[in-house]
This record gives sequence, C-alpha cells and structure tokens, in this order.
Amino acid sequence: MKEERNKTWLRKLVLIALCLTLTVVSVPCPAQAAASDSKLEVTFLDLGQADAALIQCDGHSMLIDGGNAADSSKMYTVMKNRKITELDYVIGTHAHEDHIGGLAGALNYASVKTAYAPVTTCDSKAFQNFRKAVEKHGVSLTVPQKDETFSLGSAECKILAVNSESDTNNTSIVLRITFGDTSFLFTGDAERETEQAILSGKQDIQSTVLKVGHHGSESSTGYLWLREVMPKYAVISVGKDNSYGHPTDEVLSRLRDAEVTTFRTDMQGDISCVSDGKTVEFTVSRNKDADVFASVGSNSTQRAAENNATEPAAKSESVGQNYVLNTNTKKFHIPTCRSVKQMKDKNKKDFCGSREEVIAKGYSPCKICNP
Ligand SMILES: [Zn+2]
Ligand SMILES: [Zn+2]
Repeated sequence: MKEERNKTWLRKLVLIALCLTLTVVSVPCPAQAAASDSKLEVTFLDLGQADAALIQCDGHSMLIDGGNAADSSKMYTVMKNRKITELDYVIGTHAHEDHIGGLAGALNYASVKTAYAPVTTCDSKAFQNFRKAVEKHGVSLTVPQKDETFSLGSAECKILAVNSESDTNNTSIVLRITFGDTSFLFTGDAERETEQAILSGKQDIQSTVLKVGHHGSESSTGYLWLREVMPKYAVISVGKDNSYGHPTDEVLSRLRDAEVTTFRTDMQGDISCVSDGKTVEFTVSRNKDADVFASVGSNSTQRAAENNATEPAAKSESVGQNYVLNTNTKKFHIPTCRSVKQMKDKNKKDFCGSREEVIAKGYSPCKICNP
C-alpha cells in the first residue's frame, strides 16, 4: 500500500518536472523577437552611381533612398511589381540627387506614412520634387532625432546619426536595423567625421551587413569603423566605370583585410538578402561569382592616371554634385577647393544641386578648382 502511494508520488513528480522543462523550453528568448515564420528582406537596387534600398518585413515596407531623378520610372516599377501601395517609412538619407532624386517615382505608386530627411528645405530641384511627392500624400518631411527608434513589423530600427556635420554628405541619416540576431547598417554618404561621431557615442553598431558609406569613397569606411561594425557582409552601391573612381582600392582593401564578404551593384546588379533572424542569405541578379576585390592593388597608379585623364568628364557630370558658394564673390567651388578653407563663414553656403542650377542662381565657377 505504502509502496503504491510512493509510486504515485514518483509519477506525479516526474510529470511536474516534465511540464516545467517544457515550459522553460517553449519560452521564447527575448533577444530573438522575430517570429519563427517572419523574414526581413533587404534589396539593394542597382541604379548605377546612386543608392536605394527596399526593406520589407511582415507586410511592412521602407525605402532608404531612391536613386537619381532618372531612376524614377525604375522606382515606380519596383513598387508596382512588388505590389507595394503603402510605404511605412521613406528615408532620404541626405539632400543629394543620387539619393533622393528618384523617390518621387516610388511615391507616384505608393503612399507614405512617415518620411524622414536631415533637412526639410533645400534649394535643389531634386529635393523640392521629393518634398512635393511626400506632401502629396498629406505627410510632412520630418527630421528624425538621433537615438530615435521605430519598428517595421518585427524589425527594430534605430537612428544612429543625423546632421553630424554641416556638409551635405555628413548630414546623412545613419540607421541600424536589427532583426532577431541579425542586423543591418545603412550609412547614406556618411564620411569619416560621422563615423567618428557615432564611434564616440559608444552605441551598439556591430552589424551583420554594412551598406558601405558614400559608394566606397576613400572618405568613408575607416579601419576603426570596420573594427567596431565587424560586418560579415558588405554591399557597395556603385556605378560601373564611374568617373569618381568608386569604390576606391583603399576601401576594397580594408574590406578584404577585415575578411568581409563584399557585394557590388556594378558587378552583380540588384542585391537581395533575406534574414530569418539567425542567418542572412544573399541573392544577386547577375554575376554571382564576381571577383569584387579585383581591382585591389592592380595598377593603382595607372588607374589614378586614368582617373585624372577623365577628370574633365567628371566635372561636366552635374548629377548630385555638391558645391560651396561664396555669397560675397558670387563664385562657386568644389568643397575641397583651397579657397573654401580661407572663406569667411558668413559668406560660405553649402549648395546641393546641379552645375546648371548654381549658374542659374547667378554664380560663376572658381578659376582654381574649376568646378
Ligand atoms: Zn552625397
Ligand atoms: Zn551618394
């Protein structure tokens, strides 16, 4: 009789222990917020020497940049093909045409709920078209706050930087998206100054995928930045044979030294990656096995000479150009011109727009930098 009771107790104990174990196992780990069937898809669109990334999660969509004005119809088609009639967020990282010029095309098909940019006004036609396209949907452009967070489905987004410096590239909105254990870092055209500002803020910036800053320009993606971001993958949005020499050998070699698997839109077209919250899988629209580091160390001197030879062509290319105006002398300069350094602050004005636009405003090109 006593033995029988003991057995019943033992059975009960085993049952309780089993239940407890099951409960513990089934409690989801808070770090993996992504539901098991939920996915985050990021598509870096190939728009030549311009930027655009479409992010989709749990039926929600966000656009980070949208290429040049000439890319408007492609942006419209992307929205149409994916049946995106509403964008939860549109982010114009900064006021250069190669980032915000084509957003109006996307907004001709899809409406928008929230639109972010580092500024709400800018003289350039591209910016004004972007703003009009946003306002058409009854939405005002908003400057987000640093450290602001918002969600896109089960993905979490955080603004790491905005308006770190006054030059247009460094106004770029830098955004980190986390999804489960994976993360994505979008940098716009942020340069070293912004990277340093973020690094000194001691924020969590480690990311699985890094959108390389400023099309792979030497001005971005410093060693310190790479050391802290520790990306497994990198994506460079860059045009084939562009006149800027992007991506530079320096940036490619830094990425190669850090053993980052790198993708390039000029070689591989549209680059899409899907995260299940644990791992990220890449698909490219062409040239899967492209040697993305091919130009590293190969005839750098010859390439530099070629770049110099094509410099006049680069100057006449007005798309997304950035100038510094002297409101006193009515001359305009490229930002690196030595006379910009000597200019009085009260006469200095940053201008984002084309060469034609700046001339139409009554400015003439500087004789030193010959913009
Ligand atoms: Zn820019
Ligand atoms: Zn750019």
